[in-house]
Amino acid sequence: MTVNYKNESGIAWLTMNNPPLNALSHALRQGLLAALDRALADPKVRAIVVTGSERAFSSGADIREFADGTFYADPFLPALVEAFEAASKPVIAAIGGACMGGGLELALGCHYRVARGDAKIAFPEVKLGLIPGAQGTQRLPRLVGLEGALNLIVSGATVTAATLAGTPLFDSVTNDSPADAAREFARKLGKQGYPVRRVRDLAVTHPQAEAFLQFARSGINAAARGLAAPGRALEAVAASVSQSFTDGIATERKIFSELMASSESQALRHAFFAERAASKVPGLTDKTPQRKIERVAVVGAGTMGGGIAMSFANAGLPVTLLEARQEALDRGIAGIRKFYEGAVAKGKLKADEARRRGELITPSLDYGAAAKADLIIEAVFEDIEIKKAVFRELDRVAKRGAILASNTSTLDVDVIAGFTKRPGDVLGLHFFSPANVMRLLEVVRAKKTRPDVLATAMSVARRIGKTAVVSGVCDGFIGNRMLDPYAQQALLMLEEGASPQQVDRAIEGFGFAMGPFRMSDLAGNDISWHIRKRHYAEHPKMRHMRIADRICELGRFGQKTGMGWYRYEAGKRDAIPDPVVDAIIDEEREALGMNARRLPDAEIVDRLLYSLVNEGAKILEEGIALRASDLDVVYLTGYGFPLQRGGPMFHASQVGLGQVLRRMKQFASNPHAEPASWKPAKLLLRLATAGRGFDDSAPAAGPRGTRTRKRPGGKRRG
Ligand code: NAD
Repeated sequence: MTVNYKNESGIAWLTMNNPPLNALSHALRQGLLAALDRALADPKVRAIVVTGSERAFSSGADIREFADGTFYADPFLPALVEAFEAASKPVIAAIGGACMGGGLELALGCHYRVARGDAKIAFPEVKLGLIPGAQGTQRLPRLVGLEGALNLIVSGATVTAATLAGTPLFDSVTNDSPADAAREFARKLGKQGYPVRRVRDLAVTHPQAEAFLQFARSGINAAARGLAAPGRALEAVAASVSQSFTDGIATERKIFSELMASSESQALRHAFFAERAASKVPGLTDKTPQRKIERVAVVGAGTMGGGIAMSFANAGLPVTLLEARQEALDRGIAGIRKFYEGAVAKGKLKADEARRRGELITPSLDYGAAAKADLIIEAVFEDIEIKKAVFRELDRVAKRGAILASNTSTLDVDVIAGFTKRPGDVLGLHFFSPANVMRLLEVVRAKKTRPDVLATAMSVARRIGKTAVVSGVCDGFIGNRMLDPYAQQALLMLEEGASPQQVDRAIEGFGFAMGPFRMSDLAGNDISWHIRKRHYAEHPKMRHMRIADRICELGRFGQKTGMGWYRYEAGKRDAIPDPVVDAIIDEEREALGMNARRLPDAEIVDRLLYSLVNEGAKILEEGIALRASDLDVVYLTGYGFPLQRGGPMFHASQVGLGQVLRRMKQFASNPHAEPASWKPAKLLLRLATAGRGFDDSAPAAGPRGTRTRKRPGGKRRG
């Protein structure tokens, strides 16, 4: 039974029962309609209460139904909401827990609403590239006003019912049970003869609606960063002022349908499911044992160590921060303090909370201080000899069962695990800079990493608010390994005739937060230089990227040195083109005997994207990643890939892998191309031939079985 029905002294109770969150699946919608009809047909029923569980009134549409069309099956949500509003007996929504999206629309269709103060109210549709589609854009402004409705619908933000107490949205907000409040409210209605009140009959009033909407429109467009849904949401809400309710819902329907079919919404929905899928690791279940993590130690208080320490302190976990030298420790602690003070100054954090978090971090120069830690994360210099010394020491001091993790970006985690006598307890936890801000965490499963260690790492990631993606061991793991050929293409295009700003502008036009040169200036050009030098040594025949090397030889490491691919004015982050860089590029083109040509933006974009995709396909076929959608999650959460494109693998599948291959062939015929770089991955060839895309969130050993995969962990590239 999706809806429990009971008649209690003339009040029909319709209790939604579709755990965990009462998603409005087809069965629940049918159940609600049947229960409503039953209550209306029963002469003994005077009023109706709709309610859910403690966790959720209803979290909204069941978005799995979008894919197979069940979403539209009768009763379609808008019709259901209308049926509740049309009821001849008063309907009261008793709201506790999540009341979101379609759930909120159902509540708006009811004649009255009572809620617990901590109920979570939201229209999160924009986050999936949609707008509320069951008349929410027309009813909410009639209750909380134009401005209030716009804020909620455009942002997708969650607020508590308490913050909306006093608006006509809620007839009563209680700290106790919403059911009791509904009972009490029904008694009051009884005294008035059980009147009904329909939101559609109210008007939206605003003294200067047009001027306000105009102002809001420009703000939204500026903030939307290429996303269509927020602007379209405004259009729908605006219809609540300029049109009748009937016309307004037609406008909403039209916009909803257009968005539902848009590539943006498809991409955002893919991203939503991809993130969920990433947390699932074949072989690990809810029953996989986990280790208790109550104390953490971080070794190295540099750029990464400080951020990692804050990530744990922010989640309330005590952290010991270990350093080799007092001045490095002092610098690290000062950086942490400065960050928290800045957050307080900007109003993002309360002063006492900042103090509490700061106090959770204990500095130390003594490895003995890590003896009690359940998880120790190493973030010292990227040097295998130093890592060896650190892991030997950690092996000596760490308690039995402690998890030892390395934040290395490029070194072999299997080798690092081998520095200890407990390789099963070792794995990589690759944070992204700034570690306390960036959501992505690559969890690197080494050959001997034990399942309980991996399972614990995945849940620790969740605890500190990170999106974890499992990677096997290879050079650069998922994200940086894919970035390598991408960066190489960017540099080759400079040799062929593009400028750094043209490359950046082209890919930023595609929607990337930052092009490769601005990104490198931000991260520090010395980091990639260091890696390039290692690659030159490991692969003596490799082509040297002279332009990039010369930029670094001049000490142009990027923003931190005031110049890199661009120059920067003190205290500012604007990237200003620099003739010195142009001169270096010209000289190197001449040395290579290149005739500079003008590269079309489309070529720049496709070369950058398809180099990511081809490497991604290799990563999949080697079993380094579990599923294609994991690569999308990495790029969406860690590399500024535009959300509305759904990630590189999703994007390539949308374009069509056959088309991707044709473009790659064209690029390979360029006399300046590195032929190896456009050699298509076998998986890409196979899927293109079969007319397929990359499987979105199919697990490694998925039922479709189009690819055989090895467990991540084994293979090392190059
Ligand atoms: P960093 O140079 O800023 O900091 C390293 C710190 O380690 C220094 O403060 C140093 O004093 C300390 N240290 C060195 N030897 C030590 C020892 N034996 N015991 C204790 N502390 C010691 O470096 P970083 O940028 O924070 O990088 C740290 C690690 O994180 C590297 O492995 C790097 O590859 C990786 N990483 C860096 C980034 C990034 O963007 N910077 C991103 C992801 C991963």
